[in-house]
Amino acid sequence: MKKKVLLIHTGGTIGMVRDTESGVLKPDRFYDSLLKVIPELDQLAEIQVEIPFLFDSSDMDLGHWETLGRVIADHIPGVDGVVITHGTDTLAYTASALSYMLENLPVPVILTGAQKPLSDLRSDARSNLINAVEMAASGVREVAVVFDDKLLRGNRTTKVHTSHFDAFHSPNFPPLAEIGINIEIAWSQVRTPQGPFRFHPEMEGSIAVLKLFPGIRPQYFQPPRECRGIILIGYGAGTVPMKYGEIVHKAEEWINQGRVVVLMSETKAGPTDPRLYESGSHLLEIGVLPAWDMTFEAAVTKLIHLMGCHCDNPSVRHDFLQPIAGEMTL
Ligand code: ASP
Repeated sequence: MKKKVLLIHTGGTIGMVRDTESGVLKPDRFYDSLLKVIPELDQLAEIQVEIPFLFDSSDMDLGHWETLGRVIADHIPGVDGVVITHGTDTLAYTASALSYMLENLPVPVILTGAQKPLSDLRSDARSNLINAVEMAASGVREVAVVFDDKLLRGNRTTKVHTSHFDAFHSPNFPPLAEIGINIEIAWSQVRTPQGPFRFHPEMEGSIAVLKLFPGIRPQYFQPPRECRGIILIGYGAGTVPMKYGEIVHKAEEWINQGRVVVLMSETKAGPTDPRLYESGSHLLEIGVLPAWDMTFEAAVTKLIHLMGCHCDNPSVRHDFLQPIAGEMTL
């Protein structure tokens, strides 16, 4: 029997059309004609389409993540898998947010997009879509991303290129599958959910991010009182300037105010390990939390999720250091 796949279209380049006058790409309800363009999809699965909103993914917000989670939760267990077509710009954030929101997923939730619209001759949309539908029927019970012949854990991905077809990497975790002549799923890496499916729509986004650079004037950064979480992006393994002590004093001040302070590295791969150098270990001593090997997307959405689930910051701090959905390796 044909598998049932719910296809949620949210916008992005994959379905955009070029405005004839200005030449810019604009979102379009391309699924109206999808099966005419890729009739093979019908052979792979019985596809049901939902379009809860439609825009360039730079407009994505917490409320849209909740809507997506709700559409998915409402269709489970009536489908064998879900595909979300999404703009590539914030796709890794949505994948990470959904991974925390959808606990013990009974079916695959696969996000994909494209660097060129489906309507363009040399587009990656067609193969990404076909691969995504195949993976949605694969039984990999994770929120994952299909792009350029790879299946990656959603909360491990990051967009690395604006113009290459190979636009998403998973710097600190191996692919869940390689999609070549054969589809090779690395089942040993795939998570096995334990327990019943649960939907956690709670989110809270009062977060500020301070990215360091040599010569930074930390006094320019003044997060207001209601800001509960601060992410400090330092260098290398998690170092910050010590000489004038301003950053360290700031971090101490935020912690004394009861906020959650996270330290991560600006580097694109490898774990943040503040224990290696003096400044990082001092930050750890005063209560700053290391992001270890999480991507920025995974860390910021984890804070959003945890701050939504807990009104007290000590619980957020405690849970931030535990893996929730395979987003970090301890
Ligand atoms: N700006 C587009 C978006 O994120 C880019 C893309 O889809 O590739 O919606």
